[in-house]
Amino acid sequence: MTADTPKKNIVIIGGSCVAIAAALEAKKSLPSTHRVIIIEKHSHFHYMFAFPRACVIEGWENELFAPYTKLFDSHPDKGQVIQALATNITKTHVEIDRPIEGFGTSIEYEYLIYATGARHPEPGNLNDHDTKTGAVQRLKEVQAKIQKATKILLIGGGAVGLELAVEIREHFPEKEVTLVHSRDRYMPSYKMRMHNKTVEILAEFGVREFRGDRVVIPEGGFKDDFKMIKVATRDGKEIESDLQIMCTGMTPQSDLLSKLSPQSINPKNRLVKIKPSLQIVDDDFPNIFSAGDVADLEDVKTGGAAWRQGIVCMNNIINLINSPKSAPTSLTQHSPMPPQIMLYFGLARGVAQLKMFFLFCTSWNFLLKRFYTYNIGAPRAWGWLGTPMTKENADM
Ligand SMILES: Cc1cc2nc3c(=O)[nH]c(=O)nc-3n(C[C@H](O)[C@H](O)[C@H](O)COP(=O)(O)OP(=O)(O)OC[C@H]3O[C@@H](n4cnc5c(N)ncnc54)[C@H](O)[C@@H]3O)c2cc1C
Repeated sequence: MTADTPKKNIVIIGGSCVAIAAALEAKKSLPSTHRVIIIEKHSHFHYMFAFPRACVIEGWENELFAPYTKLFDSHPDKGQVIQALATNITKTHVEIDRPIEGFGTSIEYEYLIYATGARHPEPGNLNDHDTKTGAVQRLKEVQAKIQKATKILLIGGGAVGLELAVEIREHFPEKEVTLVHSRDRYMPSYKMRMHNKTVEILAEFGVREFRGDRVVIPEGGFKDDFKMIKVATRDGKEIESDLQIMCTGMTPQSDLLSKLSPQSINPKNRLVKIKPSLQIVDDDFPNIFSAGDVADLEDVKTGGAAWRQGIVCMNNIINLINSPKSAPTSLTQHSPMPPQIMLYFGLARGVAQLKMFFLFCTSWNFLLKRFYTYNIGAPRAWGWLGTPMTKENADM
């Protein structure tokens, strides 16, 4: 290869946990014939892990949006993060919604990682806020709403609903918080002890909770006008509230891939079907991989699992570059990650299930205290992306 030979592209659609893990892996051993191009519609990486707290506590929102600029050490020949919306995938190119210098509106790929994740209702996810200013502003609006409300109804008792309930009660004990969860049990993928401890902590903070019931969402959604209304549940309860926050489940963003490869989409859940090698289930496209929240895998959908899968995708692409005839079965086979999670319940409480020395340990406040930081470890995201999180950098 001469210096003038154009590099072949490994394109990743979606610049979150899968993409960052894959990019860091590529930096270790990607042959110099190739480079990584990440297409991401947001200007910055969204550190969602701390969004529930940032909906309540003001003044550090800028720490949750880390710039991509140094991910490839400012070497575009190794890789680039392009801010654009991917609008179409052909057999050879990804089309984007705006012209980018050096590419135009179409980016050729030899390998593709489809990592578009999932949409969650705001404020758990700020999918539609593409600039840092816009996303920070949105968090501030949510804080203002929570400050103004007196009786808050949280709909959905997943990680976001649970964390948000406790954060609100810890900082505004005068506000009434009601959490409605459709199942009888919180975090059913984890040990029963996680549920039991969670119920105990919710009670300690005075969160009113109803399980095994569903809120009836009015047609057109809630009005968001701070009027005190009575919200009905399916079981016939009436919950008074002047602010309602949706913390319900996620919708996989698989539409783009479904046009190129309908057979790789599971019609039941809209997730992308993939082989253990993390190639999509479509033999016409052995060069397309998928991982993370959009992928139909047994793993619980967490950043940790997405990270691990991103590494497998990149390692298998490197294997294929080095030995193009490798069969899927000769590539690294993904094995599901044991369910692990750490939930922060306010500034000094929490529950965690972690795998330690082959054992699944559940733990509460004592162990978690060691990991507590007001920003829930946001600086590590800045570290992944090569820009240290300092006071001077925080607004970058
Ligand atoms: C509030 C909250 C808290 C969480 N806390 C934790 C936690 O503490 N620990 C943990 O392990 N996990 C946590 N999770 C889960 C974790 O965030 C996800 O599992 C993880 O982010 C999934 O990563 P991903 O790479 O699959 O995709 P996502 O993080 O969903 O990101 C997908 C990316 O693709 C981009 N995108 C989508 N379509 C396009 C397109 N057409 N063109 C360009 N870009 C596109 C999106 O803008 C987005 O940035 C939390 C999730 C939420 C919502």
